[in-house]
Amino acid sequence: MELSIKRLRWANNPEYQHIHDALIRCRDEEGYNCGSLGCRLCRERAQASFSNSVSRGWHKKHQLYSYTIIPVDGWVAYDQIDAFDLLAFGRRHREKLKRVLPNGMRIAGGVDFSLNIFENGERSWQVHLHFLTDHQIEKKTEKALKLRYPKDDTKEIFRPLRIETIASSDVRSNSKYSLKSYFLKRSGFIADPEKGGSGDRTGKGQGLPADADELLQLALSKYRVTDALFLIGLKRKRTSDPAEIKLHRTGNANPSTSKLRGYGARTKVCSRRKRKSRR
Ligand SMILES: [Zn+2]
Repeated sequence: MELSIKRLRWANNPEYQHIHDALIRCRDEEGYNCGSLGCRLCRERAQASFSNSVSRGWHKKHQLYSYTIIPVDGWVAYDQIDAFDLLAFGRRHREKLKRVLPNGMRIAGGVDFSLNIFENGERSWQVHLHFLTDHQIEKKTEKALKLRYPKDDTKEIFRPLRIETIASSDVRSNSKYSLKSYFLKRSGFIADPEKGGSGDRTGKGQGLPADADELLQLALSKYRVTDALFLIGLKRKRTSDPAEIKLHRTGNANPSTSKLRGYGARTKVCSRRKRKSRR
C-alpha cells in the first residue's frame, strides 16, 4: 500500500492524482472509505465482510463446493490490462453459467487477477473466477461446463475448471479465497526430472512485482470494490459503506425469508422438487 502510493505520486500524471488522493484519505482519515477496487484497504474490508456474509449464509449444515474457472477470454496481454472491461467480463460469464447451471443454484464469489509468467518468458494477465455454492451439480452439468470452458495451451490454461468439496470448518478460509484482497504472480515451469522434479508442468504463487502491482492498481482504480463480486441468485444489499458486503437472495418476494441467514435453503427445496418430478 505504502509503496503503491509513493509510486503513484512518482507517476506524476494528473489523471492519477485523484486516485492517489483517495488512497491517502482512505488510509489516514478515520471513517472514510474510498471504496475503490484499486485500494487494498477497501479490498481487505470487502473480503472480510464477504467472508462473514458467506459463512453466516451457508452455515455448518451446508456442504459447500468451491469452483475455479479460467476462461479463455480472461487472457489479457500484460500492457493491455487497463483496457480490460471487468463489468462486461462479469456479465458475460454470469450469462454463460446461468445457461448451464441448474435453476435456483446460488453462487457467491469474485473475479480474480493473476500475472502469469512461464519459464521467465512473456508476462500476461489471467482474469478468472472463484466462487462457492452449496449446490452439487450432476455429472452432465460438469461436462457441459467443461465444454464451455475448454483448455487452451497457447493461453496457459491447462485446468480451466476446478470443483472441490469444502469441509464446513474451512468455509471462512475458502470464502476469503473466493473474493481475494491480494493478487498473485504465477510462475510456471517444468519440474526438472534430473533434479528430482516430476517432469510435469508446475507453478507457484508469489506476490506481484512492483511494476505489475502498480499497473493493475491503476487499471482497477476505475471500479468500485464491489464490482469484483461474482454472484448468481444472490445480490448485495445497499449499505452506506461502499466496501461492506451483505448478501441476500434474489427472486424472493417475502422479505423475511430473503435475509442472509440460510440463503442456501431455497436451493435445497428446488433440488428436492426436481428429483420428485423426475420420478
Ligand atoms: Zn479505500
